[in-house]
Amino acid sequence: MKPFEYDRLENSHDLSAVANGRYLGGGTNLIDLMKHQIETPDVLVDVTRAGMDTIEQRDGAVLVGSQVSNTDLAAHPLIRKHYSVLSTALLSGATQQLRNKATTGGNFLQRTRCQYFYDTKRACNKRQPGSGCDAMNGLNRFHAILGESENCIAVHPSDMAVAMAALDAVVLTRKPDGSERRIPAADLHRLPGDRPDLDHVLEQGELIVGVELPEKPPKLQAYRKVRDRSSYAFAVVSAAVALDVEDGQMRNVRIGLGGVAHKPWRASKAEAALEGKAPDTALFMQAMREEMADATGHGHNDFKITLAPRVVVSMLKQLTGLGEN
Ligand code: SF4
Repeated sequence: MKPFEYDRLENSHDLSAVANGRYLGGGTNLIDLMKHQIETPDVLVDVTRAGMDTIEQRDGAVLVGSQVSNTDLAAHPLIRKHYSVLSTALLSGATQQLRNKATTGGNFLQRTRCQYFYDTKRACNKRQPGSGCDAMNGLNRFHAILGESENCIAVHPSDMAVAMAALDAVVLTRKPDGSERRIPAADLHRLPGDRPDLDHVLEQGELIVGVELPEKPPKLQAYRKVRDRSSYAFAVVSAAVALDVEDGQMRNVRIGLGGVAHKPWRASKAEAALEGKAPDTALFMQAMREEMADATGHGHNDFKITLAPRVVVSMLKQLTGLGEN
């Protein structure tokens, strides 16, 4: 590991901009990346004691501090009662030990688990821009089918971020100059384009201080994760679905997909196709086929193009009372 300076932030209003620094929360991904010398910050700024570890209700919304652990967030009574899709997503991630350590802010900022990104002997545009992408014609079973580019087909690994995107959560940030931003969770991460080295839209030194969960989330919520084993595995495909059914019509339909793109993917075409309609299995499938119209497989991951719609259709049937399969 490359030597680095360690600093500690005592107050989230007192940010020190560092040229090549990183904020340190739970460190469950960053420290691994530093050991592999994929991340080589000059300075680590520990933010775990900067007063960002509370969950509180304000004007109906719920404010979650960025240093709340994944375990505490999943178990909080407000989250379990009103945002069950988020609680379920969190509990499907990693292991209990990792969830105890991992933070809300850090979960958003974890990096892809593409195996070529971690293997410094292989070509990877995300790790070393311009070097190529060994996943394109390599082992790409876990890779993207939506929004990818010729430079990168990696997927974002977070379960939590998929649920946050589906809930229309808002990420709250603060910059070293004191200015603040409200970024919709669905817009925090970016598609790879010609800069796959950039995972998100945050600027250098910009700190996630918390997340705002909306006052009135849809009442029907579910998260489902398809993976190779029942614990400690990243999603092959996952989905966060939330909606209301009022007077026999679907309202506030929100569908987030994980394991399919460089960012949590809001299935906005499918949402629009379902909004205001009566629940119907054929309609569910038609909506998801429209969503997948531009999906592209890369060989090993072709199956995701049919798997993702099946997962969402099954969840919609379950949530709207049409059955499970
Ligand atoms: Fe690197 Fe992205 Fe290609 Fe994986 S898919 S090897 S992260 S450029």
